[in-house]
Amino acid sequence: MWEDPELFPGEGMTNKVMLSNWFETLKGTAFDTPVYVFEGSKEGGKVLLLGGTHANEPAAALSAITLLENISNCVSGTVYIIPWANHSAITHTDQMEGDPQFYTIETPDGERTFRYGSRRTNAIHQWPDPTIYIHPEGSVLGGQEVTNLNRCYPGRKNGYGTEQLAYAITTLIKEEGIDLAIDLHESSPEYPVNNAIVFHQDAAELAVTAQMMLEMYGIDIGLEESPQNLRGLSHREWGDNTDVQAVLFEVSNPAQGRMRGRSSEELILTGVDKFYVNAADRGQLYVPYDENGYPLKLRVARHIATFEEFISSWNMFYPDKMIEIEGIPDYQSILDEGLGYYL
Ligand SMILES: [Zn+2]
Repeated sequence: MWEDPELFPGEGMTNKVMLSNWFETLKGTAFDTPVYVFEGSKEGGKVLLLGGTHANEPAAALSAITLLENISNCVSGTVYIIPWANHSAITHTDQMEGDPQFYTIETPDGERTFRYGSRRTNAIHQWPDPTIYIHPEGSVLGGQEVTNLNRCYPGRKNGYGTEQLAYAITTLIKEEGIDLAIDLHESSPEYPVNNAIVFHQDAAELAVTAQMMLEMYGIDIGLEESPQNLRGLSHREWGDNTDVQAVLFEVSNPAQGRMRGRSSEELILTGVDKFYVNAADRGQLYVPYDENGYPLKLRVARHIATFEEFISSWNMFYPDKMIEIEGIPDYQSILDEGLGYYL
């Protein structure tokens, strides 16, 4: 029987609720998932952060977990964090990939084990898939995409399980009046959208400002505008269907790439793979890559730094709706101390 690993929220947490709070149909299903709320004593803007949309992208869930375990105080505004957005997807791994089921991080207090999951909803929770998935906005996708949370937005109340999950998240955004929503991901080094911020056009100013700040600190990150005709994705549908400013962050992860060697826990943690070093030498990658790889701590540090710069940029543009958060680990400290130090 699968149990979620225990999380240890920071002192700033004011409430932990289940997603079914916003859509009761999810209650008691594998799609229901915890939402950690950090409400400031002063009113301000509201930000939603999603990890684990794709459960085979561990830096996404781990960034959300690192944040929720370290926020010591929210001074103004409210932060909502969902570490396992597709909770069903952490209960299995992708077929034919040979992925490990778990990975373990050393902390000063001992080891912590997390589940390595799948890009998709588990078939024991949603089956069978249609041959073709006709998205409510009209696009036609492969049938399997109905198990991919990031193709199912804005979601359908009476649809497939993953569509209902998407519907619950969209409802949370609407009912809570979320101002800024962030979806965390990882992508393989040979994929063009990599180490990047994907932004809905309504979030362009914020995205450009955050990118400039990150580049100033020496964190190289690209900008991609969300294509208008690519339906079902968070950065498109959240922005089109609600008042939120929607963005998605990508960071490079060799463990999910097609060019990698053997899947292993070590590859997940170190991001070192000799075949990717060769591919980099041949100019086949979209990111710089060498023997140092892309360790998990670097991937998490990048996501957290990008989150922090979005909050700073938000506060610059909307001083009447400030979001002030204390306790966010800084980029260099995560690299110097390691991830375990913060978990
Ligand atoms: Zn992803």
